[in-house]
Amino acid sequence: MRDLRSLGQPLLLASGALALTSYALLYASPYELRVLTVAGVYALAVTGFQIVFGLAGALSLAHGAFFGLGAYATGILGSRYGLGFAATFPLSLLLPLVVALLVGLPVLRLESHYFALATLGVAQVVLLLAVNLPDLTGGANGLPGVPGVVLFGWAVPRGLPLAALVWGMVAFGGLLAWRVARGRLGRALVLVRDDPLAAAALGLDVGRLRLAAFALSAVFAGAAGALSVHTQRVVSPEVLEFPVMVSVLTMAVVGGRGRVAGAILGALLLIHLPEWFRALERSYLIVYGVALLAAVIAAPQGLTGLLDRLLPPRDRAPPRPVPPAEPARSGPGPALVVRGLAKSFGGVRAVDGVSFALEPGAITGLIGPNGSGKTTVINLLSGLERPDAGTVELFGTETAGWRPDRIARAGLARTFQSGALPDGATVLEAVAAARLAEDPGLVPAEAHALWALERLGAGGLAGRLCGDLPAALRRRVELARALARRPGLLLLDEPAAGLTDAEKADLAGHLRAAAAEGTAVLVVEHDMGFLLPLAGRVLCLDQGRLLYEGPPEGVRRDPAVVAAYLGEGTA
Ligand code: ADP
Ligand code: MG
Repeated sequence: MRDLRSLGQPLLLASGALALTSYALLYASPYELRVLTVAGVYALAVTGFQIVFGLAGALSLAHGAFFGLGAYATGILGSRYGLGFAATFPLSLLLPLVVALLVGLPVLRLESHYFALATLGVAQVVLLLAVNLPDLTGGANGLPGVPGVVLFGWAVPRGLPLAALVWGMVAFGGLLAWRVARGRLGRALVLVRDDPLAAAALGLDVGRLRLAAFALSAVFAGAAGALSVHTQRVVSPEVLEFPVMVSVLTMAVVGGRGRVAGAILGALLLIHLPEWFRALERSYLIVYGVALLAAVIAAPQGLTGLLDRLLPPRDRAPPRPVPPAEPARSGPGPALVVRGLAKSFGGVRAVDGVSFALEPGAITGLIGPNGSGKTTVINLLSGLERPDAGTVELFGTETAGWRPDRIARAGLARTFQSGALPDGATVLEAVAAARLAEDPGLVPAEAHALWALERLGAGGLAGRLCGDLPAALRRRVELARALARRPGLLLLDEPAAGLTDAEKADLAGHLRAAAAEGTAVLVVEHDMGFLLPLAGRVLCLDQGRLLYEGPPEGVRRDPAVVAAYLGEGTA
């Protein structure tokens, strides 16, 4: 029974493709074939949009512009210069790609709203150019007489052959996008979408990943734009106007964000809806709008989300645990040497001239009152903040000012005080994310992740959703995620907060085991009963300055630490 159910989605896909083919072959009128071809053009554009908007979570309003650039490249080269499909099609992919790379570099680092606005600006500029360069683009009237597709000397006629060509490209592009979504790149993009800071801390280059998604989406849009011109045989500024962008966005949301099947379903539905409602004449726009609203409210995850509920996707075969190779670390010296580290926020000196060193295999405690700068020290070491002054040497290499992903790849792992697991991901996916920067594919990444989970006695959690876990288990998964990278230096921000005594003892055991393998461990903690027996050395911060550095036994006897932090009662 379960096997049959797990076959459901592939079966559904096959019957959908069959139904579409028989409709096109047996029933569709020439007009209906044209509508179907247009739906295919949009399906291709939306498939690309799913990569940048669905997976990478960046609301690119330049997608319509990339569509238009592809359309104009084909239109101008075909109609003005008489170039054939074999030349115009690749160039129609190349032009949006180049523009995406040039525009993407500066705007992709912007906050999401500003990114949307900046890409809207790009769309506006392209539209203005198309209207105001009539010698090249034909201006507001556009260019007529774009030649049809010629494939290997055969002029593909409109109707069934062109529909087949377009839908063949949808199938090819869909397969490509599906592989991206299900592979290492897709996983990394989703992580970047959900929590860019955590992604960077796991060694992923957020800017480069977003740029890759943006560029890839532009190629799909360019292909769709080129095919749209071959369908219409004219190109005009209409292809650059906002309705194209709005349609693409609506199709992605109605179909199911981030899903290739969602792109196809959304395009088929939204292109055909106006046809079905045409009989209603004037009231059609109202009915269309209401139908859209109803669809979004009834199926917030889109049509594919609805299908997933009816036919759950097939579980993947569970991986086998494999220990990752231990990365080579240089030299016998200290893991970390910090000198004169300083960071101010406005007038607050959060970290004020701090120097210390951490040795491989040693556990060091970092204590201090709230607001004394402990988290800021961790943020500075891991690259989330840039130091105002001071040097940081990680395994003998100066890393102050490096991006967090580069520091992570140099052997540093950290956890976050507030925790940072994606609620919607399984435990195995969340831990495998830590291996994406290291491993060449998802299969080894998951095998290594399972190894890390099993080492912490959490292998049984692999299939659970992170959002369903109680706090203590979440902490354990976070530790597994940090250790999965086999870091040379591990920074933990209040890892015992909210744990029971038994859970704390368990955590202490795991930290000792990591240290025994040679990892240098820095633990920020308030619980002295947990920390002092664990740490070989303790640093105490107060108002950004090191107040105490020495053995744990000395902490309770140090008058300065007692006065600033521990208080008389505990001395
Ligand atoms: P701790 O982790 O020891 O409780 P933090 O390092 O979080 O302390 O904070 C140290 C000081 O720096 C506090 O006064 C805090 O308000 C300030 N601070 C930390 N991060 C920021 C920030 N991003 N912007 C402004 N002030 C900050
Ligand atoms: Mg803190």
